[in-house]
Amino acid sequence: KQTSLQENEIHIPQLPPFDYSPPPYTGPSAEEILAKRQQYLSPSLFHLYSNPLNVVDGKMQYLFDENGRRYLDGFGGIATVCCGHCHPDVVDAIVKQINRIQHSTVLYLNHAIADFAEALASKMPGNLKVVFFTNSGTEANELALMIARLYTGSQDIISLRNAYHGNAAGTMGATAQSIWKFNVVQSGVHHALNPDPYRGVFGSDGEQYAKDVQDIIDYGTTGHIAGFISEAIQGVGGIIELAPGYLPAAYKSVKEAGGLCIADEVQAGFGRTGSHFWGFEAQGVVPDIVTMAKGIGNGIPLGAVVTTPEIAKVLTRRSYFNTFGGNPLCTAAGLAVLNVIEKENLQENALVVGSYLKKRLTELKDKYQIIGDVRGKGLMLGVELVTDREQKTPAKAETLHVMEQMKELGVLIGKGGFYGNVFRITPPLCFTKEDADFLVDAMDYTMSKM
Ligand code: PLP
Repeated sequence: KQTSLQENEIHIPQLPPFDYSPPPYTGPSAEEILAKRQQYLSPSLFHLYSNPLNVVDGKMQYLFDENGRRYLDGFGGIATVCCGHCHPDVVDAIVKQINRIQHSTVLYLNHAIADFAEALASKMPGNLKVVFFTNSGTEANELALMIARLYTGSQDIISLRNAYHGNAAGTMGATAQSIWKFNVVQSGVHHALNPDPYRGVFGSDGEQYAKDVQDIIDYGTTGHIAGFISEAIQGVGGIIELAPGYLPAAYKSVKEAGGLCIADEVQAGFGRTGSHFWGFEAQGVVPDIVTMAKGIGNGIPLGAVVTTPEIAKVLTRRSYFNTFGGNPLCTAAGLAVLNVIEKENLQENALVVGSYLKKRLTELKDKYQIIGDVRGKGLMLGVELVTDREQKTPAKAETLHVMEQMKELGVLIGKGGFYGNVFRITPPLCFTKEDADFLVDAMDYTMSKM
């Protein structure tokens, strides 16, 4: 049993006040929806809670169930809702666009796609100026891998163990966790040691891990490779921030072997990490290709690949086409998202509130032995639960238990990591200090009762 020094002082945490009530809900109940889901939806779908939540409304950092009960959204639709649920500017941009034209394929001109491509390119470092729109992160990464292979003439791709890059054949190959890999052809992919400061063999020594990339090139390939793909902070893998110094050293080996460096910014991009707009920037590297999705449209289906004009030339006279990619509704939303991030200083907010939240979570670690590690940056934070700190034995059941109890108190967080024992805290970037306090108080209260 975990005991808390202040056990007697802890009161049941209360949600911060919020001035919004959703309209009454008259749709089917959670049980009816669950029954339909079980009958008509793919059995591969899973839900977060044993008693799944029926979310009916969303407003900024809050979700509402069918009874109008409010929940603080600490997961942000898996690091996706960056501006806040139904942010008025994003809704307005979509409504304005839908009243003019809903679909226009890239075979015609439409300003929404061009305006957003220009705005996105202005957020990129180096010569990353050419944008290709997709519908998801998976598609963006599939395209990035294909470009790297076409450009270099090699099939060999290196990705990190524990990575998640998507669920189509190519990206499933680059993904490196057994539960996300199926028995389909996934050739030419090599998985490098994960520069994981908490569980990795070299601790926080990024350059040591990067030697494995060179070893793979030397011993597993012809010496010439297509590319290297990695997240800056692994999301699905359990909020693992790559050890400092890793990316510069790995990129050096990759470039010397003729490969392209691909940054998967599907989770870490759009200011989420606080210190930088893109996650990779924290390690001072400039990739050859950047892929993105999730936060790009605040939840509207959209993804993108951004590369240099020189690399983009490989697609010249190749009919690579996507019916929905760059749909004007999505790109209008994307432009509104960029404007909101800037206008409301959301990156700065992620830094300030995220640092405060991390500090408070780290204090909890001093109080509860079950917390093995608190990590991440900005509003992309992870809390790993272990049954003993020495062996780092994953506390999987306890992780789910705490999440379920926190939900009862009115706060939603996610989980992930190879062992399913890491809380993923990736709220909308409009999260406030009061929200951070409530989240930590709810975790504290729950752990005090274990
Ligand atoms: N890359 C990363 C880092 C992700 O976290 C994900 C999804 O979680 C993907 C790619 C795939 O994106 P999507 O689910 O939009 O296909």
